Amino acid sequence: METENPPVAVKKQTLTAKAIIHQKYGTKACYKIEEVEEKLSSNVLCPGLTLPQKGPSLFRCFLQLPDISVVSEPCKKKKDAQQSAAQLALVKLGIDSESSSPTDAVDELVSRLTYMFSNEFLSSLHPLSGHLKAVLRRDDKRCGLLPLYAVISCDPKLVNLCKSIDARVEANPLLSIPIVKGAVARLSELVISEEELWIKRKEPYPSDVIPSLDNQESDITNGAVTVTKAVYIPPSLDKDVVSLSLNMGSEVYYLDIIAQELGVVDASKVLISRTIGKSSSEMRLYFSALEPKNLISDPEFHSAKDVSSDSSFNVRASYLLGQHVYGNVILASVGYTWRGAELFHEDVSVRSYFRMLVGKTPDGIFKLSRDAILAADLPQLFTTKTNWRGSLPRDLLCAFCRQHRLSEPVFTLVCNSLKSDKELHESENGQTSPEIETFRCNIKIFSKTQELILEYFPEESFKKQGDSMQNASLKALLWFNIYFKQPNADLEKLSLSSVSNELNCNLTSFVKEFYFCQLMHEAQQPRDVIGGRKRNREPQSDLINKNPRMEGEVSGSSPSIGSVVSISYTVYLVSEGTEIRELLEKNDDFEFEIGAGAVISNIESAVTQMTVGQSICFYMGLPPKEFILASAVEYERVLSLLSSSPCCLEYTTSLLQVTEPFEDRMEQALFSPPLSKQRLEFAMHYIKEFSAASLIDFGCGSGSLVDSLIDIPSSLEKIVGVDLSQKGLVRAAKVLNSKLEKLKTVMPTSRIESVTLYDGSITVFDSRLYGFDVGACLEVIEHMEEDQACLFGDVALSLFRPKLLIVSTPNYEYNIIMQKSNLATQEEDPDEKGGAQPCKFRNHDHKFEWTRQQFNQWATALALRHNYSVEFGGVGGDGSEPGYASQIAVFRIRNDSSVEVSGPTVEVDHHYKTVWEWNAATTENPAE
Ligand code: SAH
Ligand code: MG
Repeated sequence: METENPPVAVKKQTLTAKAIIHQKYGTKACYKIEEVEEKLSSNVLCPGLTLPQKGPSLFRCFLQLPDISVVSEPCKKKKDAQQSAAQLALVKLGIDSESSSPTDAVDELVSRLTYMFSNEFLSSLHPLSGHLKAVLRRDDKRCGLLPLYAVISCDPKLVNLCKSIDARVEANPLLSIPIVKGAVARLSELVISEEELWIKRKEPYPSDVIPSLDNQESDITNGAVTVTKAVYIPPSLDKDVVSLSLNMGSEVYYLDIIAQELGVVDASKVLISRTIGKSSSEMRLYFSALEPKNLISDPEFHSAKDVSSDSSFNVRASYLLGQHVYGNVILASVGYTWRGAELFHEDVSVRSYFRMLVGKTPDGIFKLSRDAILAADLPQLFTTKTNWRGSLPRDLLCAFCRQHRLSEPVFTLVCNSLKSDKELHESENGQTSPEIETFRCNIKIFSKTQELILEYFPEESFKKQGDSMQNASLKALLWFNIYFKQPNADLEKLSLSSVSNELNCNLTSFVKEFYFCQLMHEAQQPRDVIGGRKRNREPQSDLINKNPRMEGEVSGSSPSIGSVVSISYTVYLVSEGTEIRELLEKNDDFEFEIGAGAVISNIESAVTQMTVGQSICFYMGLPPKEFILASAVEYERVLSLLSSSPCCLEYTTSLLQVTEPFEDRMEQALFSPPLSKQRLEFAMHYIKEFSAASLIDFGCGSGSLVDSLIDIPSSLEKIVGVDLSQKGLVRAAKVLNSKLEKLKTVMPTSRIESVTLYDGSITVFDSRLYGFDVGACLEVIEHMEEDQACLFGDVALSLFRPKLLIVSTPNYEYNIIMQKSNLATQEEDPDEKGGAQPCKFRNHDHKFEWTRQQFNQWATALALRHNYSVEFGGVGGDGSEPGYASQIAVFRIRNDSSVEVSGPTVEVDHHYKTVWEWNAATTENPAE
């Protein structure tokens, strides 16, 4: 054989990530593939540029394992999505590409520790080498004593090995202490202190390794004093959470400083939590290993009674961490990280502590995502993605689960391909066709140990997968939110609340997971601690009885439901009598949808009374303390103001801009008369010119054209509508029925003989509709795939052969004008995921939108093929650059066409189903 290819390196038999998962979990690994549409990255429409009509399909894979679940990034191939999910799962499980048995793991653990204390490790960038260097710098007998707990908190690999030796380490990392101790005992070159929890190398490091330490250019080795702010969380609720400065002077090991602040002998007595807060954060809780209960933090051993009677129980820290914590706690963002060799540190303010508290609740997560703690509120409704501001419900729900150490929520899409009665209200131009699928999204929420906590099966279905997910996620969040507002409420009752038939809560596992919330709530209830003293109820400020003050001229109309408004606002804490005000929150451009409950109700009701340019000032009672303290910039001043005299909040807000709901924008704001009316008038012109007696409305939707044609006296005798949307046809039939009943009395001169509605596709010929005078096909072809649109053209002109065919479709080049008008930027987004870019087309149901040139080419060639002439026009605008909003082609049969002279030679060919029919001859006039 030829060997042109380079020799294969080492043929290592590596298993794919999926294969490893299969080895470990077999059929317990459940992969679900979901199709996602890729978004166009640009939201600027370039006229004349042919964009791909539809982004390539991408796939996302959900992998559910007994312990965890992951979601892959969108991939081009389903296979890749599965591998990517499997790989993510392996990383999450801490499995390096080969699976290791517990005995292998112990061996690996031993060699890992050997490596950590090797000479070369000291110069590595591993965070632990930072600790090592720092302890080697100590000039007392503690020189070189590395706290065992630093080892555990710095090395995920080591922790993963411990996990594979004892699975309980996942829930309680402290259980790795005995495992590491055991491994160190097997190493003659290491010493471990049983009770003091440090590890030390027996052989001192050679001096050529140590001097290199001095070359490290850091604040600390340079002798500079580094101060970083941290937060002290005392166990007693009578004491405030306060700010603390960690003074990390030169030559000091930061854990020694923290030990000092905690009041423990040295760093080896400091326990370090996992990181908390945002995923990128380095914030951790530091607490004492000398509190014996901190080392047996197995929740099963504690009952609510136990902890609440225990004065060393730190409820605030336990709530933040989701784990029992006793004694003094320090919240700090400091440590050696993978980012560099130097000590990383960042101030943590008391405000950050309160923001973390706020971020534990569903509405709190939303408020933070909007950066509007005192103004935003978790909406009660998800209408459209483009009207939503802030993190989307699905992301909020995932964040909420992460916050509470639950598994990622499991979303299951159920597709109903049959029509559903609960389908969304059909829009005027009838986008729904009966075979459009609808979706429902079920959600399951599991604990980390895969106990089912909550199941939600909504009844409502949606046209878009994304909408169904967002809606279901929001419902789940709202349900949790009720609990968080009142954790003491009767859970039994809560689970039976309004949505109960769609929701199923496992109360036992729910209480188990949210037990800290209840403790925290109970702890906060009897005493409200502000400024170090207990208070009963806040004395109410009289200011809240003051009437709102409205300023500015009334201009135009007020925003209505579904509008998106932009406001500016400020919120001050004002203390009665003292004239002192503290700014709490300020936003110069804050958008929200009216009617969705996306802001506190006082703002919403104020704004619905205002017109653009007006502003209003009103007062409100105080919200929960953590909201105020989480937004306070000048924390100390706010705190002292709060404790000095009765306070309230002063809101001032101005209405900057109102954006009407999408349909109104298109039809009313931009065009007068509305485009649909203009199209009707356009068609009317030809009907008159032709004295047309018969008309087919191809793609009649809910019959608006037919309806209007009946209203206007004309030569028309026979009108037919064809569509394949059941919903459209049913609506059309209803409207036409009631109208035609009165026709003879209202319009005795009407010549209309018959009106028929057919269910069928306009790409299929039906001989009953052969040779009509006029065919209208208004704003329909863009709802079909391009090839189908072309097929319709050929079928219409070769088989139906109307004398005149009027075809209208959006002019893509005109979109830029609508965008510029600033009204279309909120247009419904066709895609399910990603940022809120405007739709590339005017309507999410459009399969394409042609430029003038594309439309011209299609129509000209079509006319030529079937011996028709064609002329172009349009409605919306005056037709100058970039053309009309709606472009229209009018095809006229050429007189020399001979085929139809012989009349309908076509055989009886009935493909359409008559869904409704009205006949003047058979309809008795009740008046006669
Ligand atoms: N002509 C109406 C409706 C436009 S909306 C108006 O101007 O208001 C587009 C309509 O085309 C929808 O009602 C849709 O059901 C219909 N449609 C799309 N493809 C079709 C097809 N192949 N056959 C018949 N109707 C179709
Ligand atoms: Mg359309």
